[in-house]
Amino acid sequence: MQNKRYGRDLKRRTKKPSDDRPVAEIIKELKQSNAPTSDYREQSLRIHGMICAKCGREFDFKNRKLLTVHHKDGNHHNNPQDGSNWENLCVYCHEDEHSRFTLGDYFNK
Ligand SMILES: [Zn+2]
Ligand SMILES: [Zn+2]
Repeated sequence: MQNKRYGRDLKRRTKKPSDDRPVAEIIKELKQSNAPTSDYREQSLRIHGMICAKCGREFDFKNRKLLTVHHKDGNHHNNPQDGSNWENLCVYCHEDEHSRFTLGDYFNK
């Protein structure tokens, strides 16, 4: 009985470290890529690519936070799945586009 328990314990112990690492890394990656953004943003980036529609600046996974989704009709609730109301703009161009408004509303969403 004691032997059995010991054996199971050993198995668990030898299994754990090798299991833990990849999972922790996957979670870490997920957390990094799943920054607090809304779904439409991810979709827009997928459809239109990680490039600013105005200045043509290209983005990658490291600085993608600087690339934001602009709603062409100004309605943040109008999110057609084909991306027709979205435009990917870098924060600089986006601010320019909204020069009459503040971007606070966008970022607080
Ligand atoms: Zn731009
Ligand atoms: Zn906008």
